[in-house]
Amino acid sequence: MQGVLLIAEQQSIKETFSEMLSPIFQVYHAETEAEGLNILHDASGNIAAVLVELRLARKSGFKLADYMQDIAHFSLIPMIAISDELPVPEDMDCIEHGFFDLITAYAPQPLVYKRIGNAIRAKDSLSLTELEKMLKVLPACIFLKDTEGKYVFSTQYWRHLNMNDDPNWTIRGKTDLEIRKDKQNAMKAMEADQRILQTGEGTEYVIEEKEDGIQEFLQLIKRPVYDEQGNISGIIALINNVTETQLLKMELEKRAKTDTLTGLLNKSAAQDLVRMMLANYQKEDEQFALLMVDIDLFKNINDTYGHAKGDYVLAEVGRIIKNSCRSMDIAGRIGGDEFLILMRNIASPENACELAKRLQGLVSEAFNNDEIGSQITLSIGIALCPEHGKRFDDLYKAADDALYYVKKHGRSAYKVYCADEKTSSGNEQETPGYDYI
Ligand code: GH3
Ligand code: MG
Repeated sequence: MQGVLLIAEQQSIKETFSEMLSPIFQVYHAETEAEGLNILHDASGNIAAVLVELRLARKSGFKLADYMQDIAHFSLIPMIAISDELPVPEDMDCIEHGFFDLITAYAPQPLVYKRIGNAIRAKDSLSLTELEKMLKVLPACIFLKDTEGKYVFSTQYWRHLNMNDDPNWTIRGKTDLEIRKDKQNAMKAMEADQRILQTGEGTEYVIEEKEDGIQEFLQLIKRPVYDEQGNISGIIALINNVTETQLLKMELEKRAKTDTLTGLLNKSAAQDLVRMMLANYQKEDEQFALLMVDIDLFKNINDTYGHAKGDYVLAEVGRIIKNSCRSMDIAGRIGGDEFLILMRNIASPENACELAKRLQGLVSEAFNNDEIGSQITLSIGIALCPEHGKRFDDLYKAADDALYYVKKHGRSAYKVYCADEKTSSGNEQETPGYDYI
């Protein structure tokens, strides 16, 4: 129950107002302004309005009224003069001292409630302009939108807005689509707003901005605003610039997925990505190829030229693989000298054989001017999807079997898996006419 402080000396005024107010207010009584002030100090948090007998206020020269106007938190409590006489023009002196209203004891009860209610609300409510002015002081971008997605205010303007260098430009009444250069993010913002207005649930998301050569990541925190009737009256939002943390997060994510020596994907990232691609594989008329690439007798390079030279060879082979793959393909280093490539949407198995041949050619050329010369060769096993399986494990095993076959048959060759051959069991028989080169 809201409290009202009733400062009155005259018995009839005290009784009339006390009786009128007590059904809906907790009434605090005082007979002097000094006594009233003590109550205010003790219970100001619960006092929503102060009613003072006009004669009493005038007697002190409006001391309490003036004092309350000077103290910030008291100045938010409306003061209402009360009297048992009909008002005369001279009574308006109380208004000059900050009184909000003058109510006589003859006013009907509902009207008294209404006028006290109005006074409380008027003191309570801030205009949007005042609110905007206060929020602008904070080093944050806070904005308010109405239920049509139009801006009411924004405490800062971001560079991705179309302001046309006009100093009088205002965001008020405009929609994201009208004023933002980044139309895709504008659509995203409007869709998020629609969802909030429909569901009443707030949302948080991060957008990437690239304007004037500057990349920024902005986090938006949006919440619905409700009116007194419980209806959504708008959306309030806060923008945080999260560029640094977002870039760091992306860098860490990238590092966790990258093989540092070659710059290709590492084993787990490559396998996860291939698994994901295969899980999304739906069309029977599309073909994928999985290639397992292994450097022949790589151990000898380490043993002969040292580990650093071995690292150099691995990095070079990695670079060749990276440059030879299309952007839609996936390439990773999955073991010491072992690489994996997933070719997506190939026209025929021949494409996989061509890539294998190209890699072998490039690798044998790569070290010609080096002490290693043409010692580096590759063995490559190839499995096809859907022919040899649609699951990663099946394709991996098929490609590995084909690779094993090549290793068993003298290395420096590529082979497409053949289910009829027991390649992995060490059957050394070569199927005539099959892709073994
Ligand atoms: P094969 O033709 O049968 O594949 O013979 P290989 O010598 O290549 O086979 P093996 O798997 O026995 O040797 C791979 C070698 O790769 C063994 C290991 O010392 C070396 N290796 C693994 N990781 C690295 C690395 O990061 N740097 C270097 N320099 N060597 C590595
Ligand atoms: Mg090897």
